[in-house]
Amino acid sequence: MACCLIGCGSNQGARREQLDRAIELLGVMPGIAMRAVSRHRETRPIGGPPDQAPFLNGACLIDTELGPHDLLGVLSAVENTLHRDRTDRWGPRTLDLDILLYDQLVLDNEVVDGSALTIPHPRMTTRRFVLEPAVEIAPGLLHPLSRCSLSDLLDNISQAHLNVAIVGVPGSGAAEVAGAVADATLARLVQAPAGLPWRKRSGLPDDGDPDAAWSAALSACARPLETSTWPDDPHGTVADYWLGSHLVAAEDTLSPVALGRYTAEHAAVTAKTVTPHVAILLQASPETLAERTATASSTMIDAGAQDNPVADLVRLQDRLLARLRCGKQAGDRGPHAVVVVAADDLSRAIAEAIAAVEAAG
Ligand code: ATP
Ligand code: CA
Ligand code: CA
Repeated sequence: MACCLIGCGSNQGARREQLDRAIELLGVMPGIAMRAVSRHRETRPIGGPPDQAPFLNGACLIDTELGPHDLLGVLSAVENTLHRDRTDRWGPRTLDLDILLYDQLVLDNEVVDGSALTIPHPRMTTRRFVLEPAVEIAPGLLHPLSRCSLSDLLDNISQAHLNVAIVGVPGSGAAEVAGAVADATLARLVQAPAGLPWRKRSGLPDDGDPDAAWSAALSACARPLETSTWPDDPHGTVADYWLGSHLVAAEDTLSPVALGRYTAEHAAVTAKTVTPHVAILLQASPETLAERTATASSTMIDAGAQDNPVADLVRLQDRLLARLRCGKQAGDRGPHAVVVVAADDLSRAIAEAIAAVEAAG
C-alpha cells in the first residue's frame, strides 16, 4: 500500500463541480482509498497561452495498491471522463491530476507503454498553487529528493526576498535566462563577475599551485552574494550562477591535495553568503554546448588546456544534475527547490524558467 499525494486543477467549465467529481471518482476506484482532501483555492494561471481563466487548485491524499504507472493511467482516465483536452501545453483544462508524491519513490522519466513518469512531480517545489493545498492536508510529508517536508518547501518559497540561481555550464545560456527571468519578475540581476575555472585533470601542471585561479574566481563570485550586504526588498534576486558549481567543478578537476585546500576554502567563503532558495538547472545537449561555446570567449573556456572541452562540459553538467537533484548531496546549504529546464531552445527555456519562478509568487 502506497501513500500518494495528488495535485488537482481546473480552469475550464464548471471548475468546482469537476474537481469534486474527480475526487469522488478517484475514491471509488478499485485499489484507491481517499484519505484527505484539501479546500479548493483560486489561483492565477502561470505559463501557457495568454488570457487563460483562473484555476481552482487543490490536493488529495490517497492510499493505493496501484503501481505508479497504473495510478497515472487511472488519473488520465478520470481526466478523460471529465473531457480533458490535451492540445496545448499548459493550456486550459477541465481537469488536471498530477502525481506529486508516491511514498518516497523517485522515478526519473520512466517510460511504460509510451507514457513517461517523473516522481516527485518535477515542478512541484516552486509551485505555490501545489504546495499550499498539499501543506493543508500533509504538512509533514517528506519530499524524497530535497529531504524537506512539504511545509518546509512552502516556507522556502515564501521568503520576503526570493533568491534564485540559474545554474548551468558555459554554453547553457544561464546569463540569457537569468536576465530574462530578472526582467519578467522585476528582480535584481546578479551576473557572475568571473567565469568558472574548470579544466580537466590532465591539463593541470603537476608542480604548480592550481588553486590560485580557483580561489580568485571563488572570492569574486562570492562577493555579490555576501550576507552582510544582502538586500531585503520584496523583488528578489536572480543570479546567473551558483557557488556550488565551483566545488562540483573542482572535485572533478583538482588534484587531491589541491582539492582538500579548496574544499575548506569553499566552505569558509560560502558560509558568509546567501543560499539560493530556488535553483533552475539548465540542461543542454552536447551539440548545443559545442555550437554555443565555439564562439565563446577564451575566459569562459580554457580551450588550450583541453582536448575535448565539450565532453568535459557534458560531464560537468551531469555532475551538477546529480548534485542538485538530490538535496542531500548538495549539503545543508543546497537550494531546497530545484527545477531542471531543457536549454537547447533558449526561448522555451526562458519561458519555463520564468514560469517556475512566477509559480513561487
Ligand atoms: P505540468 O506537468 O507542468 O504540471 P501538465 O500537468 O499540464 O504540466 P500534462 O499535459 O497534463 O502536463 O502531462 C504531460 C505528461 O506528463 C503526461 O503525459 C504524463 O505522462 C507526464 N507525467 C510525468 N510525470 C508525471 C506526474 N508525476 N504526474 C502526472 N503526469 C506526469
Ligand atoms: Ca499539472
Ligand atoms: Ca498533468
